Amino acid sequence: MRRFDYVRAGTLAEALDALRAPGAAVLAGGTNLVDLMKYDVARPSRVVDINRLPLGAIEALPDGGLRLGALVPNADAAHDPRVQARAPLVASAILAGASAQLRNAATTGGNLLQRTRCFYFYDPAMPCNKREPGTGCPAIGGVNRMHAILGASEQCIAVHPSDMCVALAALDARVLVVGPSGERTIPFGEFHRLPGDHPEIDTTLAAHEIIVAVELPAWPYGTHYTYLKIRERLSYAFALVSVAAALTIDGDRIAAARLALGGVAHKPWRRAEAESALVGEPPARPAYERAADALLAGARGVGGNDFKIELARRAVVRALAQAAAGTPQSQSDKRIR
Ligand code: SF4
Repeated sequence: MRRFDYVRAGTLAEALDALRAPGAAVLAGGTNLVDLMKYDVARPSRVVDINRLPLGAIEALPDGGLRLGALVPNADAAHDPRVQARAPLVASAILAGASAQLRNAATTGGNLLQRTRCFYFYDPAMPCNKREPGTGCPAIGGVNRMHAILGASEQCIAVHPSDMCVALAALDARVLVVGPSGERTIPFGEFHRLPGDHPEIDTTLAAHEIIVAVELPAWPYGTHYTYLKIRERLSYAFALVSVAAALTIDGDRIAAARLALGGVAHKPWRRAEAESALVGEPPARPAYERAADALLAGARGVGGNDFKIELARRAVVRALAQAAAGTPQSQSDKRIR
């Protein structure tokens, strides 16, 4: 067993101070950190428990948006009437993820900061550039069915495992953080990073910063949205591919579109060209296919995951058809219609 200090912070200032210790880690729901510690992948010198901080509120914003405190449990967010009314895509994406028990414990902030589920990353007996930089990436040439088809590097082909983050990326959410230098807001598309030469760094969160909230803009999409998740089994499985889609339809044309892919890259994958391919077009298959092609431009498999390129293309087309019809994917009756 590895020894570590445990600090229960009563205020944000106490938490920030405690985090200055080298090797300190934040504990919220613990659904990923505790696993990582058990596997001996994470070895924090100090665990800073922030569960007593006042970050557990869901607030409606005057502009029609929402603020989700960093400690709001995923289940509370998904079942909150304000989230269901003002951000149903986010509620649906959350319910597509994990299990009911995990959603009760996992938090908004922790969902953003969860680490990849690459099997090699979780096995300290194996090399892994994300866990130990410079040791190599056995997924390249190894078992890589779950791995990235977009935005990968020679150093790492891992994917980000979150469902909620795919919806947050599609909706241009904002991440509010606080650190030793004060507060700042990070646009969601800039929060997670691609692996490049430093796959050990998942996000643009600076040292000693804490996520305090996620803000969502107002929702103009009505029922024209869906979160479609394709996975190996119907529940409690990470996405092979997932799609967050939202449309504004004006008459017989698409007036605005939001589209993001999960399970395919080191961060939720979004491209302006894919959304532009939809705007001004009739909501029909030709436009959906052009959007899918634009979103997947440059996609490349590494053997075991080659199938994900065509799977993602079909999932995008299906998701856009669901969104246009106003028939969002049910996360309880998981049949894909
Ligand atoms: Fe490690 Fe990334 Fe390679 Fe997985 S894909 S083994 S996380 S370097």
